[in-house]
Amino acid sequence: MNDTRFRKSSSCPDLTEVPPLGLDSRSLEADFRHYYTNTLGRDRNCRLTHYAYEALALVIRDRLMERWTHTRYAYEDSDCKRTHYLSLEFLMGRTLGNAVLNLGLGEELTKTLSDVCLEMEELVEIEPDAGLGNGGLGRLAACFLDSCATLQLPVLGYGIRYEYGMFRQHIVDGYQVEEPDHWLATDNCWEIKRPEYRQRIKFNGNSETYIDATGKKRVRWVNTRDVFAIPYDVPVPGYHNGTVNPLRLWKAAATDEFDLEEFNSGDYTGSVAAKNEAEKITMVLYPNDSSENGKELRLRQQYFLASASLQDVLDKWIVTKGTNLEQFAEKNCFQLNDTHPSCAVAELMRLLMDDQGLDWTAAWEITHATMAYTNHTLLPEALEKWPVALFQQLLPRLLEIIYEINARFLMQVAERWPGDIERQRRMSLIEEGPEPQVRMAYLAIVGSFSVNGVAELHSQLLREGLFRDFYDMWPEKFNNKTNGVTQRRWLAYANPKLSRLISDHIGSGWTTDLDQLHRLKPLAEDLAFQQQWQQVRHHNKQRLADLVREDCGVDFHPQSLFDVHVKRIHEYKRQLLNILHVIHLYDRIKRGDIENWTPRCVLFGGKAAPGYVMAKLIIKLINNVATLVNNDASVGQRLKVAFLPNYRVSAMEVICSGTDLSEQISTAGKEASGTGNMKFMLNGAITIGTFDGANIEIREETGADNFFLFGLTAQEAEEARKNYNPDAVIAANNDLTRVMQLLQSGHFNQFESGIFDPIIEAIRSPNDPWLVAADFSEYVVAQQQAALAYQDQSRWVRMSILNTAAAGKFSTDRTMREYNEQIWKLPQVPAHPVC
Ligand SMILES: *Cc1c(COP(=O)(O)O)cnc(C)c1O
Repeated sequence: MNDTRFRKSSSCPDLTEVPPLGLDSRSLEADFRHYYTNTLGRDRNCRLTHYAYEALALVIRDRLMERWTHTRYAYEDSDCKRTHYLSLEFLMGRTLGNAVLNLGLGEELTKTLSDVCLEMEELVEIEPDAGLGNGGLGRLAACFLDSCATLQLPVLGYGIRYEYGMFRQHIVDGYQVEEPDHWLATDNCWEIKRPEYRQRIKFNGNSETYIDATGKKRVRWVNTRDVFAIPYDVPVPGYHNGTVNPLRLWKAAATDEFDLEEFNSGDYTGSVAAKNEAEKITMVLYPNDSSENGKELRLRQQYFLASASLQDVLDKWIVTKGTNLEQFAEKNCFQLNDTHPSCAVAELMRLLMDDQGLDWTAAWEITHATMAYTNHTLLPEALEKWPVALFQQLLPRLLEIIYEINARFLMQVAERWPGDIERQRRMSLIEEGPEPQVRMAYLAIVGSFSVNGVAELHSQLLREGLFRDFYDMWPEKFNNKTNGVTQRRWLAYANPKLSRLISDHIGSGWTTDLDQLHRLKPLAEDLAFQQQWQQVRHHNKQRLADLVREDCGVDFHPQSLFDVHVKRIHEYKRQLLNILHVIHLYDRIKRGDIENWTPRCVLFGGKAAPGYVMAKLIIKLINNVATLVNNDASVGQRLKVAFLPNYRVSAMEVICSGTDLSEQISTAGKEASGTGNMKFMLNGAITIGTFDGANIEIREETGADNFFLFGLTAQEAEEARKNYNPDAVIAANNDLTRVMQLLQSGHFNQFESGIFDPIIEAIRSPNDPWLVAADFSEYVVAQQQAALAYQDQSRWVRMSILNTAAAGKFSTDRTMREYNEQIWKLPQVPAHPVC
């Protein structure tokens, strides 16, 4: 783009000084009409709700924009320290409704819209979810940003603007079918393109040494194939506080000379192809949750994000403060969301040495004082390792730096444990073998001053297991930050009726101080309050039942127990254990064991990674069981089963408020934290769960009486694997024997012979890491306890209220305060007022 600047002297007016926009119904309506008619160019013949949504979005965006600028000025004027949250995923969901809530415009807008015969509820449904993430890790990043803006912390999100987000899931004949999510096909009015802040990203080529003008030996990375990173900024509003923080998403674009080179050789189509090649980097989100896939394009994405973001921060520093970087670490922090952006450690070293001319020691001091790493998983298949050969070819200069980091690090290890060669081999950033690999988690640990897990148990298992050697070396680096969720989206926005009921009784302070929910505790015994609580929950269950009827064609009756299991489909999350229990209930009905029955509606939802064969087969099994159960007249309303297609943020907003029983049944030691569990609890669902991740802390907060616990502990599971005999477990339990017989007889696949054999084999394998059979009997007992508790509606409603009352800890406001107090140490900076 043309970078000519217009003249600006002290006598010139500031173009960004504009009168504040009205928040009253009249101003809102006038702007709405203006955008609809003048900007979008629609006339009286157009009745498309889509354009009403777009006009409304522009009205809201304007109000965000002025607050955004004033927030930026406040940060600049106070010269505050900032944290840069680097994440390959941000699962934002929809923006409009949440922005309206956070701006406090709900009532005024409802009035405005009804004056022009429109409904807010209808318009918000038009917006596609921003699905730039797989699941928990990406949604956590989104909740973090909401809390940071609400706490007025100078935290900036950095991510990738994927052209295609998380795929859309359809169910055809019971199987998952993926459809690309081209969410940017229609205009995205929430982003502001800022090409003036583009960055150049290098790939391939080689490094060479040279002597600079001062006679110093330096290294440079040359003969590279470059791409541009173009930033698109998305506003993240705080709650009722005038703060709007940025989420900066990078899009890849071809460089001009890239084109020219090909063009000069007369290859015009070749030059266009090169453009496509460059843009491929940000074309699609990798749809793997909790497993890495080792594809070159993925490493390109990771480096692209790390390099663009670091250069952006350094450029800003140099433009405002010059090239002296002595104070850089006092004013900047980089939080790495898992190892995905961990190239940043080596990239910051490169930028500081090669571009800024710092020596190794000075560069390392800055890098090590600014990087902090969050681990999200203990699953070995999720631990990122990149072949050295791939690094050498794609990022040769980075590999050189990683080797140097490793050499210096291993010297420290050798000094501390002289002669312990085995330890050096274990801790090396390079895993030796036929194909040597770079261990990204180790790079992140060595390069960071803070390493955290995401729930107490998870952090403990990191210290004792996965990162034990590193904990021995640097115990002070390790800490825990238990995850949370934002109560603004997950209660105030997702469950307006319950929010109002709560605020009517304890005030609305909980929206920014979730601990205040404690004050609901005495109300759990209040009959009138219980009744109102039930009415709201009934309404929400009806809303969920409507969604299930619409999307699955299955009738859920709100009187039944709503038993919900939604999350990514993964063996460790044990959707299989749940469907075995469903089969068991079906078996009980068929054999007439129905005395004192609790009618139950079981809802599943979640996406399987497209290449994860077993997860996809589990979806098929759920759907086959559902078809049989739902169409069996003798089952009737006693049991209904549905698989809700295309689980996503906007679906969860409806699901979590209409759920009675929240399924959190992962094999103990495998779920790092979970956050779905927190959304359910906050909305008054009761958890049936294992002693895993944040379940442990949820149970601690709500009390053992208000939680259905079952199954092996992490330690017992570890022990059980050594001598596991599932066939003996099955034989010893009559219920499980019958369930396995039903499965093996082909009862659920009458015309699809043998399709579930891999599932049967997995359950019966002595090497089943997920220990499905081992936990079955205790699971059935816990489910029976839940069913009985549900029959005593006054007990259930008390448990429900007490769960919400105890959810205070699980706000990301608390999580962010802890990150800030112990890792970032940022000041709170109120935005300049818009007036
Ligand atoms: C909260 C959430 C998740 C995480 O759920 P877990 O049960 O913690 O795995 C995943 N996907 C979506 C859409 C969510 O809202």
